[in-house]
Amino acid sequence: MANKSEKLFNKALKVLPGGVSRNTIFRKPYPFYADKGEGCYVTDVEGVTRIDFANNMASLIHGHAYPAIVDAVTEQLAKGSCFTMATEAEVNYAQLLCDRVPSFDKIRFVNSGTEAVMAMLKASRAYTGKAKIAKVEGAYHGAYDYAEVSQTATPNNWGELDKPNSIPVAVGTPPKALEDVVVIPFNDPERAIKILDQHKDDIACILVDLLPHRVGLIPASNAFINALHQWTRDNKSLLVFDEVITFRTNYSGAQQNYDVAPDLTAMGKVIGGGFPAGALAGCDKVMKVLDPTEPKVLLPHSGTFSANPITMTAGLAAMKDFDQAAVTKLNQLASYAREAITQAMSDVGIKACVTGAGSMFRIHLKAQPPKNYRDGYVDKKESQLITKLLDHLFDNGIMMINTCTATLSTAMTKKEIDHLVCALKDGFELIKPEMA
Ligand code: PMP
Repeated sequence: MANKSEKLFNKALKVLPGGVSRNTIFRKPYPFYADKGEGCYVTDVEGVTRIDFANNMASLIHGHAYPAIVDAVTEQLAKGSCFTMATEAEVNYAQLLCDRVPSFDKIRFVNSGTEAVMAMLKASRAYTGKAKIAKVEGAYHGAYDYAEVSQTATPNNWGELDKPNSIPVAVGTPPKALEDVVVIPFNDPERAIKILDQHKDDIACILVDLLPHRVGLIPASNAFINALHQWTRDNKSLLVFDEVITFRTNYSGAQQNYDVAPDLTAMGKVIGGGFPAGALAGCDKVMKVLDPTEPKVLLPHSGTFSANPITMTAGLAAMKDFDQAAVTKLNQLASYAREAITQAMSDVGIKACVTGAGSMFRIHLKAQPPKNYRDGYVDKKESQLITKLLDHLFDNGIMMINTCTATLSTAMTKKEIDHLVCALKDGFELIKPEMA
C-alpha cells in the first residue's frame, strides 16, 4: 500500500513539473512532505520526526515555529498582510539592520535572494554606467541570467583556469548575457586580476560570496578580497557581496571578518524570519540610484510584496533575538560540531574532511578541503556516496542539505550535534569499503 508521501507525489506529478515546486527538495523515489516543525525538529506526513540541519536551505535561524515570531506575525496578520502603503515595521527593521552593519547606510527590501542579487547588479550598472559583471567560478547567486552564469560548470566545459568559460545554466540563455559575465577563479588573486584587466573599462561590479556553498563552503581569503577591492577602486567599479546565505555567520554578516567593506550587500534567507525576503543595502552614494526624490532616478525599482509587514515583523523578531550573544553561542556550537565530525572521520579512518564557518559546515569525501570550485568538484562516484550517506542520516532521524551541508539553528544544543556525529560515524563505516 502506498504511503501518504507516495500518494501525494503521484497527485503532484499530474500538476507540478516532476511533481515539485523547487528542484532542491526532489528526492528519489519521492520527496518528503512536511507536516509540522517545532524548534529544530521537523515531522513529515508519515509521522517521522527528524532533526532539521537543513533549516529550509539555511533560512531559519531559530528553527521552526519560533514563539516570538509566531506571536508577532499572528498579531500583524490580524491587522492585514500587505498594503499599497508603507508600514512602521519596515522602518524599524531597516533601522535595526543599518545599525547592525557598518557598510549599510541605506537598505531596500525585496522578496528573495535572487531578487536581491538582481537588484544589486542592476544598481551597480546604474551607478557605474557599465554593463559587465564579474563573478567567481561555480558560485551560486540565484536565478538572474547574469548571476547564474558558470554555476553548473563541469570539467567538460569549464575551459582554462586562466580564462574560465561563461557557462549558461538554462538552455536559451541570451549569448549577450554570457558575454557580459566575466568569470574569475576563487581565492586566486593573481589570475583573477589578470582576467579582470582584460575588461578594465566595462565591469560594473565584482560579485563575491565570502563563503560560497557550491564552491566548497570555504572562506574567501583576505588577500583575495583585498585584491578585488583594490581593483574596483582603480577601475571605477564596485565590490558587492552576496550575503544571502552568509549573513548568519556573524553579527554584521561575514563581511565583519574582512579588512574592507563592500559597496553593496545582497541578503535573503534568515532576514525574513521564515518568510520570503531579500534586501539590498550599502553606502549612500550608490543606494541613491534607487531614490525617487532624485531629479533623475537611475534605477526605478518596485515590488508588489517588497517590505510587506508580515516579512518585516518576522524578520525583525528573528534578528532582534539573533544578537551578539546568540551569534557567538551558535557559532561555538558549530565549531564543536566541526571538530567532533573531523574526529569521527579520523576514528573511522576515511578520507574525508569538513569545511565551513560560522553556523554552517559541509562534509566532503576528499582527503583535503577543496581550494576552489574545480578542486571541490563532486564527481559521479562521490555524489553517489554522498547520497548513500545522506539516506543513512535520513533513516536515522537527521535531515541535511543535499550537498551534505548542515546549517544550525539557535534551537539546537550539543544533544542534537552528538546525535548527528554518532549517525555520521556509522554512515562513514557504511561507505568506507566503497571509498578505496
Ligand atoms: N545567493 C546565495 C548565496 C544563495 O545561497 C541563494 C539561495 N540558495 C540565493 C542567492 C538565491 O536566493 P533565493 O533562493 O531566495 O532566491
